[in-house]
Amino acid sequence: MKDRWRKIIPGILIMIVIVTTGADVYYPFPSENWWVRISRSFCWFVPTWCANWPLEPRDQYHPVLTTTGEFKEVNGSTEIEFHTGLDIYDQFPAGAAGGTPPFVLTKDAGTVTELQQSSCYEKCMVETLTPSGQRQSYSHWDPTTLSQEIRDAYANSTSLAAGTRVAQLVRWPASCDYHHLHFEVCNGASCEDPQPGLYPRESTNDLQIGNIDFKKNDAEGAARVFPGATPRVNGQVDIVVKAADQQAMIRGSNGSTFPGLTGIQAIGYDIRDTAGTVRKPMSIIDFRRVQNPIHFDPSRAAVLFQEDSSDKYCSGKHFNYVITNVLCDDPSGCRTVLDDAVDDKFSIKHSWNTKEYPNGTYTVTITVWDHASNSKSATRSVNVVN
Ligand SMILES: [Zn+2]
Repeated sequence: MKDRWRKIIPGILIMIVIVTTGADVYYPFPSENWWVRISRSFCWFVPTWCANWPLEPRDQYHPVLTTTGEFKEVNGSTEIEFHTGLDIYDQFPAGAAGGTPPFVLTKDAGTVTELQQSSCYEKCMVETLTPSGQRQSYSHWDPTTLSQEIRDAYANSTSLAAGTRVAQLVRWPASCDYHHLHFEVCNGASCEDPQPGLYPRESTNDLQIGNIDFKKNDAEGAARVFPGATPRVNGQVDIVVKAADQQAMIRGSNGSTFPGLTGIQAIGYDIRDTAGTVRKPMSIIDFRRVQNPIHFDPSRAAVLFQEDSSDKYCSGKHFNYVITNVLCDDPSGCRTVLDDAVDDKFSIKHSWNTKEYPNGTYTVTITVWDHASNSKSATRSVNVVN
């Protein structure tokens, strides 16, 4: 009896530490509720209970090449949208020519509600509906390898178990090894980032912050940069930040590799005076949940993601986040340029009007977060001269 307690008590203590310290809490976002944290602490004891990646091997972490909420340009610049899923990457074991593509697996149990399996190639897609009402979709697999379980479940409206084989990943027909599963989890019109719900997770940490620019927010066509090492700014100012995360290297057609940059999960800024007093509290734009409006006006898109943002996945990509996210050319004042109806991404609260501040030197601190709660900050000073 004593011996048994000698094993159980340390186990309970470790669980309490994990639950109370929130090993998987996704700062700065609301922490998960206590039963999610308790169930995650069980994962630490028996990882196979929790392994749920929708790609073989199910119990291993897979890097992501395109995150949820990443900015995408489709058909040139006429249509702009958010990436509503995760691109889960697989390089194939022996390279694109000789490797065996892994099988796509269902993450959770559910009924098959949609199946695109003919003339679809990389757009082949299966969608399931989980008992809790989530739509989970799996795209970019080879239709010639579609499993009988999926065919039967679709034909008979029966439920599939979690971890059922769907089909083998398709060889991505691009000039680089971008073989990936597009995995999407949606509720109603909005989709959420599936990554925090996947197990095991790895705390990759390669957040990057490039240039921090201050631009005049007005209607004079191309945004003008306030020049200088410590720019003199006034009026409605746009803060434009080049930022990215990186989870994997991609192999190009000629055997070279290049960084598979992704969008960040959240970005925010605060403003302090020379005494270090916070004059504008942290204002965060969070891409964990996204919803695509029917149509983005391209002229407005420049206000979301500055020109020179790129999603060219075979030659590297980068994003210039305009974290003030409002347009101020309106005679009646500033207005949000787009409303995706989730999480205040485009709220007027993100704007910065220097007229509300006394002249002087201020420090703008930019912070970015990745899916694993890692963060990185960078600062730049400005002189407010109203
Ligand atoms: Zn995708």
